[in-house]
Amino acid sequence: MTMLTQAPKGTKDILPGDVYKWQYLERKFREIAAGYGFLEIRTPVIEHTELFERGIGGATDVVEKQMYTFEDYGGRSITLRPEGTAGAARAYLEGKLYAGVRPAKYWYETSCFRYEKPQSGRLREFHQFGVENFGSHDMLADAEVIALADEFLRGLGVAELSLRINSIGCPVCRPVYRKQLMEYLSGHYDALCDTCKSRYEKNPLRVLDCKSPVCQGIAAGAPVMLDALCAECAEDFAALQTGLNAFGVGFEIDPMIVRGLDYYTKTAFEFVSDRIGAQGTVCGGGRYDHLIRELGGDDVPGVGFGMGIERLLLVLSESGAEIPAARRPDALVVFLNEEARGEALRLVKSLRGAGLIAEIDTAGRNMKGQFKYADRIGARCCAVLGEEELRSREATVKNMETGEQVRVRFEDAASAIGRRD
Ligand code: ATP
Ligand code: MG
Repeated sequence: MTMLTQAPKGTKDILPGDVYKWQYLERKFREIAAGYGFLEIRTPVIEHTELFERGIGGATDVVEKQMYTFEDYGGRSITLRPEGTAGAARAYLEGKLYAGVRPAKYWYETSCFRYEKPQSGRLREFHQFGVENFGSHDMLADAEVIALADEFLRGLGVAELSLRINSIGCPVCRPVYRKQLMEYLSGHYDALCDTCKSRYEKNPLRVLDCKSPVCQGIAAGAPVMLDALCAECAEDFAALQTGLNAFGVGFEIDPMIVRGLDYYTKTAFEFVSDRIGAQGTVCGGGRYDHLIRELGGDDVPGVGFGMGIERLLLVLSESGAEIPAARRPDALVVFLNEEARGEALRLVKSLRGAGLIAEIDTAGRNMKGQFKYADRIGARCCAVLGEEELRSREATVKNMETGEQVRVRFEDAASAIGRRD
């Protein structure tokens, strides 16, 4: 039965042979986020559906047709989180974190769920690293989260990486622009794809972001938000660029970056690798000055990003970037027979206690089988307990790469094996 042996469409196991790549990215991200003063936050996978309807916006693709929503046994409408920001903002309010240090700077790693058409780099369950800065209007906060992503992605070796920035204005200037855009689009309405026809009324800015070539052609001639920014937004967009220059982060201005979620204001940005096709956007983010108020809080501004980890892994593999291999076992303790087993278990325990990756056969193999097993698991050394060794309370440490052997007392075995990262 395929239902029993196949994961749901659009989901993927992360098998033990690949998990080292995830652990590597997680370690790097944690280090960089900590270095920038961001603290980790963990929020539930499920939230009240209303949080996303209010937070992300009812007219977005995500809320309209991508959410995994169900009624629980208590009759509540629950949704698997499709992104991380709304949950972080909810936690910020519920935990009264606004009473603490301002700005509050958080990072997270989350699974996200969206009902999408699965393809390379587009899954129904995917994972994101994200950061949020709550409580600063200053564009240096925007520049800082961008600099963090830039340092992380460049440090990993992402090839052909570009940072594209835009401003999508604020409630003062965006409605004016929206009208201009709709006027322009009305002249091309019949040529728009079906999705964009339905976007036209509800969310016309999304037409700029459409992936269909015809819509892209139409978008290329459209008026741009940057020409319609109010004085404050124009000043902020200039300040963002000054901040990025100060951080030493290179960028391009791209008026077509609009972002898919309604809560964004002013800064919008994407990191794109041109190494992979349509799914080359590894990171997207921006400022959301009205999200917290929308959720019932005070007027607390915010800025952050979400970075797709599966996409990042795709891009890294296309970039030929090196991910350090998982640490191999340092030693397999090989033992002759039943009599040797007690001593062998004590030895493996002491090796583990010394911080080594040490293994022992748990499948009843004879000695020859144990040596084969050592090869299979890539053990760097074997610590052998044969008849002789037991009598003299010593182990023979054999280096499996060089064939070299030394006899050592049990208590010296760990240092004879040594540790290699
Ligand atoms: P796209 O335009 O590619 O659909 P998006 O605007 O929906 O992206 P965001 O909501 O901004 O994406 O999410 C941030 C990042 O999360 C994206 O830049 C991407 O790297 C990743 N991401 C989004 N949706 C998926 C998905 N279905 N599968 C894998 N990664 C995803
Ligand atoms: Mg999307």
